[in-house]
Amino acid sequence: MVPGTAGGGDPGGSEATAVGTLIHELARRASAGEVGPEGLRAAFDEAWAALPAGPAWRQDARRERAWSMVQAWSGWDADRPRDQLVGVEVPFRCDLTVELPDGRPETVTLRGVVDRLELVDDTLVVVDYKTGRKATAGQVQTLGQLGVYQLAVRAGAFDELIGAAVHRPGKALAVYLDAGEGAARAATLVQPSLDDVPVPDGIDVGSAPDWASAAVAEAARIVRDEDFVARRGSHCRGCPFATDCPPRGARR
Ligand code: SF4
Repeated sequence: MVPGTAGGGDPGGSEATAVGTLIHELARRASAGEVGPEGLRAAFDEAWAALPAGPAWRQDARRERAWSMVQAWSGWDADRPRDQLVGVEVPFRCDLTVELPDGRPETVTLRGVVDRLELVDDTLVVVDYKTGRKATAGQVQTLGQLGVYQLAVRAGAFDELIGAAVHRPGKALAVYLDAGEGAARAATLVQPSLDDVPVPDGIDVGSAPDWASAAVAEAARIVRDEDFVARRGSHCRGCPFATDCPPRGARR
C-alpha cells in the first residue's frame, strides 16, 4: 500500500510520500515485467528526475537512500517464488458486518490496494512494502492495515481476480525496505494469520471473533458516534497539526 499521505504544508511528509510512491511504482513495473533488473537503475533515475522540483531534499544522499530501498526490494523479490505471485497493486472493495461494542451490527466497506498478493498452500498471503521507519515485531502482530487485508481475504474480495474462492488468509508480511542498517536489504516482519491467532495474548476483543474485526468495529463506532479524540503516539511524528493539537499542547 502506498504510504499514507501527510497533510499539506508538511515538507517532510510530502517528501516521504513522493519517494514511497516512486518506489512502489517501480516495484509494480518490475513485478509486471515492464522493467528488468538491468534497467532498474535507469528507470529509477528517470522517475527521480520527474519528481517535482524541490529544494535541498533532492540531494544525492536522499536519492541514494531511495535507490537503496529499490535494491532492497529487488533482492527481496528475487527470493520469492514467481509461481505464487497473484498480482501487484491489487485494488479491493468488500463489505463486512461487524458488531459494535454495544451490540449494534454495522456494515462497513473495506477498500484499499494490496501491494502484492501471493497464493501459498491454498492461502492468500498479503504483502505490504514499507518505506518508512521499521516497526517492531510486536507492533506488526496487530498492524491494522495488514489485519484489514486479512479480513478482505476472508470476505472473498479477491475471488474474481483469482477465479476461485480462496478465503483463508496466510501470514501477512510487512516488508521494510529501509532497514536502517546501511545495507540494501529488506527486513520482513510477519503477522500471523487470523486463522491461526485470532486473539493474541493480552488483547481484549470482547465478543469479536478476532482482533482485526474488533479494531474495525471500534473504528466504525468512532465514526458512528463522532467520537474523535486526538491521542498522542508515534503517528504524531510529522503531523502538520501538532502545533494546535490539544493533547500535544497540553504536554508543553
Ligand atoms: S494526536 Fe495531534 S499531533 Fe498526533 S496525529 Fe493526531 S492531531 Fe496530530
